[in-house]
Amino acid sequence: MSEFPVHLVKSRRRSVAIKVNHDLSVEVRVPLRFKASDLDSILDRYHHWISKKRDEILTLPKVRELLFLSGELVPILGKDYPVVIEIGKKLQASFTAGTLLLTVKSSTTEDAINKLGMKWYRGYAMEVIESRVAYFLSQFKKEPTRISIKSMKSRWGSCSTSRSLNFNWKLVMAPLRVLDYVVIHEMCHMIHMDHSHKFWAEVEKRDPDYKLHKLWLRKQGRTL
Ligand SMILES: [Zn+2]
Repeated sequence: MSEFPVHLVKSRRRSVAIKVNHDLSVEVRVPLRFKASDLDSILDRYHHWISKKRDEILTLPKVRELLFLSGELVPILGKDYPVVIEIGKKLQASFTAGTLLLTVKSSTTEDAINKLGMKWYRGYAMEVIESRVAYFLSQFKKEPTRISIKSMKSRWGSCSTSRSLNFNWKLVMAPLRVLDYVVIHEMCHMIHMDHSHKFWAEVEKRDPDYKLHKLWLRKQGRTL
């Protein structure tokens, strides 16, 4: 008996392996000849290890959900700003005087308000990133051929061999110095297409604290 869901997976293997999944269920991989009646004693033996792993997963930072409702706070360049929703004649979004103002019609659905908010985020990401690329351009001999904003699951940016730069729109929720690090990182790929020592030296020249910013993305990036 255990207080969490357990998945028993039989496969051609010699030993028992235990894994705690992100949904907190426990996966026990066992050899084909394993007797199900032995499961309890295994769970007993690993009880301490399993609860430690479950605690680790429970304390991982959670992905922040963007809620476009009056009074909700949304992150913009590392700070939280309130959303204000007002009724007007046409759909409009603007970031003024420390609030994200969404103007909607009385008939606008929740779904359409979310779309408006997301469209604003992507547009603002483009605006900020374009201006930061322009800001750092004087420190490079080559220019990017294209800048685009994308929804990327596991990357913050990329640079193609034709010097086309792609950035994750979610960067606009991070502090500016972290966004700048990603901009500098991708622009340095216009010099070196790899992650060699020479590449990192170019990054460090333009962002002496790049290791801190890289760490921020690894630790906090999952919450964006
Ligand atoms: Zn890279």
